[in-house]
Amino acid sequence: MSESLPIIKLGDRTLRQTAAFVKNVHDARIQKLIDDLITTATNANGVGIAAPQVAESVRLFIVASRPNPRYPNAPEMQPTAMINPKIVAHSTEVVKGWEGCLSVPGIRGLVPRYQAIQVEYTDRNGQLQKLELTDFVARIFQHEYDHLDGIVFIDRIESSLDIVTEEEYQKNVSYNT
Ligand code: ZN
Repeated sequence: MSESLPIIKLGDRTLRQTAAFVKNVHDARIQKLIDDLITTATNANGVGIAAPQVAESVRLFIVASRPNPRYPNAPEMQPTAMINPKIVAHSTEVVKGWEGCLSVPGIRGLVPRYQAIQVEYTDRNGQLQKLELTDFVARIFQHEYDHLDGIVFIDRIESSLDIVTEEEYQKNVSYNT
């Protein structure tokens, strides 16, 4: 059975490490970690989660966009495990959008991200996948990808004026546009 794992928070050094490549996707521990990450993200209303957030420093994350109380406008998709992911190309266009992070509770920030990216990753069956992602899902990918390199979203915020509390964010829905 999959289980919800404890999420480490900003200040925990594991969150700042460069994660190691996954050597064997079929390893039972990796498959279990994938199931547990999906359960953890679902229970926490997250649209994505990276392995380092549960103190497993390996290059693997889940993208699980769906509408939920934290992101009411998110598109619906099946939770997808992306292993050893890469960004192979990106748009010149960069857009700012609001992000939060399960490892940085209570804070939202405006973060610049590429509007579109071409990505490659290995799926949980060991198959190489190539995708183009845009807008919100591209944002999730870039946020989770950063976790594999020890970067958190607040590192990319350009001004402290672009940081708000979760409470104020929820009050001011106009920020969502
Ligand atoms: Zn995060």
